[in-house]
Amino acid sequence: MFGPLPEWNPTDSSQFALLAPVREQVAVVGTDQDAVGIRLASVERRFWIDRDDALKLAQDWLAEFGEAEAEYGATGRRLQVLIAAVSIHRADPSQSAIDVQQILAWAQQHGEIALQSRCHDVLGSLFEMVGDPVAALEHAVAANDLLSESEAPLMRAAARKCLADALGSAGSLDEARRRYDDALRLVIDDPDTNIRYIILNNLAFTEHLAHNNDEALEAVERLVGLSQLSDREIGMSARDTIARVYMAAGRLDEAETMLLPALDSVFSDAHPDSSAAALVALSELYREQGRLGKAQTVIDRCRDLAHRNGLNRRTTEVAREQAEVHAANSDYRAAFEAFRDFHEKFEALGASENEARGRILEAMFQTAESRRESERYRELAERDPLTGLHNRRFVDEHLGSALMSLREGGLPLAIAMIDLDHFKRINDTLSHEVGDEVLRALGRILIDAAKAVPDAIAARLGGEEFLLILPATDADTAHANFEGLCRTIADFDWAPITHTLPVTASIGVALAPDDGSQSSDLLRAADVRLYVAKRDGRNRVVHSAIIARSVAESAERNLVTVGPLAAGPMEIVA
Ligand code: GH3
Ligand code: MG
Ligand code: MG
Repeated sequence: MFGPLPEWNPTDSSQFALLAPVREQVAVVGTDQDAVGIRLASVERRFWIDRDDALKLAQDWLAEFGEAEAEYGATGRRLQVLIAAVSIHRADPSQSAIDVQQILAWAQQHGEIALQSRCHDVLGSLFEMVGDPVAALEHAVAANDLLSESEAPLMRAAARKCLADALGSAGSLDEARRRYDDALRLVIDDPDTNIRYIILNNLAFTEHLAHNNDEALEAVERLVGLSQLSDREIGMSARDTIARVYMAAGRLDEAETMLLPALDSVFSDAHPDSSAAALVALSELYREQGRLGKAQTVIDRCRDLAHRNGLNRRTTEVAREQAEVHAANSDYRAAFEAFRDFHEKFEALGASENEARGRILEAMFQTAESRRESERYRELAERDPLTGLHNRRFVDEHLGSALMSLREGGLPLAIAMIDLDHFKRINDTLSHEVGDEVLRALGRILIDAAKAVPDAIAARLGGEEFLLILPATDADTAHANFEGLCRTIADFDWAPITHTLPVTASIGVALAPDDGSQSSDLLRAADVRLYVAKRDGRNRVVHSAIIARSVAESAERNLVTVGPLAAGPMEIVA
C-alpha cells in the first residue's frame, strides 16, 4: 500500500492551543544548554499535539539562527528533521529524504546520538512510504537502539510506534503488537498529545489489514473508550479506521454513526484527505445496506471534496465507488462508463505514484551511494557514535595487526586502559546528558593526547572505559605520557559541564612485549592494573614499575604474598 498508515488528526486544534507543560523535562542545572534542551523538547512535543504549530515553531526558531547554517549545530538540525517529518506527508518527500540523510551523516560524524535516532525515525517512515519494509525496519530499529532511556517517554513511545508500524508492514504482527503495547505503556498518562490515539489507530489498522477482526475490534474499542474517558472527539482518520473495523464485523449501524461526522460542517477543519476517505467508506456502507440514494449523495460530496483538494487517490476511489453504485442500481451503461473513468484514473494514479516512489528512492539511493563511495563511510562503522573515537571493533583489528608487526621485529608498544572515576555519580546527581557531555569532552582530550605520538589510537571500548595505544613507545616515555594524561584530565576545566563535581580517571598501563604480545594478554594486564589504580584511591596511573615497587614494599612489611600479575587481580589485593 502506498502512503503511511492513517494517523489521528485532532479535529479541534484550538483546545490544545496552549503549549502543554513539558512534564518529562526536569531542569537539573540552570544553564543555557538546559534552556535550549527544554525549548527543543517542547517543540518536538508539539509535533504530537498540532503539526502545523510544530512546523511554525521550528521554522521561527531556525529563522532566529539566521543564515549561518554551519552554526545550527545539533539543535538546528533537530528542527530541520522535525520539519522534514511534517513535510514528508504533505509535499514531494524527495528533498526531505536527501536532507535527512545528510543530517544523519553529520550526526554520525559529530556523535549526536539523539539526532541520529530522529533521522532514522524519519527515514523509516520514508521507506515505509515507498514500500520498502526491509529498509524501513532497519531504520526503525536504529531509531530505537540509538534512543537513550533518559529521553522523554513521549519520544521513546514515538520510536516504538515507528518500529511497530515497520514490523506490521513487514508482516511481523506479534512483534508489532508488542511494540505498540510498549509505546502505549510509556504514554499511558499523557493526556495532552494525540500519540495514544495514533498508536491505537495504527494497531487497529494493522490488525484490520491482516484480517484479524477480533484483535482489530479490541484495539478500536480501546480507542473509543479512551476518547470517552478523556472526553475528546475522535479524529476523522481514526473514524475511518474504526468504521472499517465495524463494517468487517458486520456492525453497520455503529460504523455509520462513526462516519456521519464526515458530512458534518463541524468537521470541516479535519484534514480533507481523512474526510474524503471516510466519505468513501460511508458510501460503501450505504451501498451494502441498499440505501443507494444516500450512497449517491455521499459520492457527490466526496467527488467535490477530492477534486477541490487535488486528492487524486480519493478521486480514483470515488470513481470506482460510482461504478459500483450504478451497477447496484442496475444502470449498467452508466456503470460501464463510470468503470472506464475509474480505469483511466487508476492507471494515471499508478503512474504518478510510481513516479513519486521512484523519485524518493532515487534520492535515497544517490545520497546513500555517494556516502558509500567515500572513505569516511567505511570509517564510520569503526567509530563510536558518541565520541567519534575508534570503537572496540577497530581496536580488535588494529591492535592485532600492530602486535603482529611487533612479533615480526617491530618496535615496542604501550597501551593504557582509562576508566572514569565515580562516573555513575555524574549520571545520578546531574543527568545522563551531562554524563554524555563528559564522555565527549574526554574523547577530545584523548584525541589531543593521541596527536602527541605518530599513529597513536584513541578508542572508546564501551561505557566510560577508553583505550589509548601508543606505538613505538618505550616504558619511560609511555609512563610520562600517561601520567601527563591523568593530570590533564584531573586539571581540565570541567565546571561548565559538571559544576562542582570533579572528574578524574584511573589508568592501567601495559607494554608489549614485556607484558605479552597477544592482544588479550596485553588488555588483561592493563585491566588488572586499572583495578589496582581504583583500589589504591583512583585518579592515578598504575604500570609495572609501580606494581613492582608496591610488591617490594608489601613484602618488606610482610603484609601479603603477591602472586604473578597475570594470575588475576585478587592476588594483588591485600
Ligand atoms: P569507578 O570509579 O569504580 O569506575 O565507578 P564508576 O561509577 O565510574 O563505575 P560503574 O561501573 O559503577 O559505573 C559506570 C557508569 O557508566 C554506569 C553507566 O550507567 C554509565 N554509562 C555507561 N555508558 C554510558 C554512556 O554512554 N553515557 C552515560 N551518560 N553513562 C554511561
Ligand atoms: Mg568508572
Ligand atoms: Mg567502568
